Amino acid sequence: MLWLLEGIVWILRFFIGASVFSFFNVVICRLPKGESVIKGRSHCPGCGRLLTAWEMIPCISYFALRGRCRGCKEKIKARYVWMEALGGIFFLACILRFGPGPLGLISLPGLAAFLYLGILVMAAWIDWDTRIIYDRFSVGIVLLGIFSLKLFSEHTLPQRLLGCVLVAIPMLLLSLVIEGAFGGGDMKLMASSGFLLGAKGVAVAMFIGLMAGGIYCGIMLKRGKLTRKDAFAFGPFLAVGLGIAFFWGDALADWYLSLL
Ligand SMILES: [Zn+2]
Repeated sequence: MLWLLEGIVWILRFFIGASVFSFFNVVICRLPKGESVIKGRSHCPGCGRLLTAWEMIPCISYFALRGRCRGCKEKIKARYVWMEALGGIFFLACILRFGPGPLGLISLPGLAAFLYLGILVMAAWIDWDTRIIYDRFSVGIVLLGIFSLKLFSEHTLPQRLLGCVLVAIPMLLLSLVIEGAFGGGDMKLMASSGFLLGAKGVAVAMFIGLMAGGIYCGIMLKRGKLTRKDAFAFGPFLAVGLGIAFFWGDALADWYLSLL
């Protein structure tokens, strides 16, 4: 019986994460349009029909509706369900990495990690769509950094302050030499994340981001989908690096330093 209960607890946890990311989906859709993210109920973008509670259950509604609006039969974007599934998986990953907390839900470090991943996904997705990283995401990361000063005390204040400038300042200098090398939003994302992750973490994140962005560019250039003059959103690649660095940044940095 115990394994059954345990299973139910994990499924509930998955749906908590999925529900939070379902809300983040709303932010991704509405923020670039300048719409309020709290006011106005969810509606079908096709016909404008308001959604009932049954149509808003993360992941399940999409499959129950066979991916189409009940009113106008227009296809629902698959990215909604992907985003919700990602939220569920991230919530479980944060519990596994940082431990469950009160009521078996999630520990405070786990919650900080989950919120950080949420901010990264929102910033990356909007950057991909619009090539803008909103300042409010960087402000949110700084607030998380302050909130986590005691939670992640291994990241001391001097390390965090070094983290703010270690990557962001070289990015700024490079942008002065090569016009448009990095956007201001990219730099603010790395500066604020440096305050959360510390110097080691943000360095690892930049390394992974450059690798991932470089591989993507190489593939796109080869396929002829990008030319050398094209600019592309770098935020999503930085976000991947930052997410990985939150989980394993210090370990990866220590491993790399041990090789030198
Ligand atoms: Zn519709």
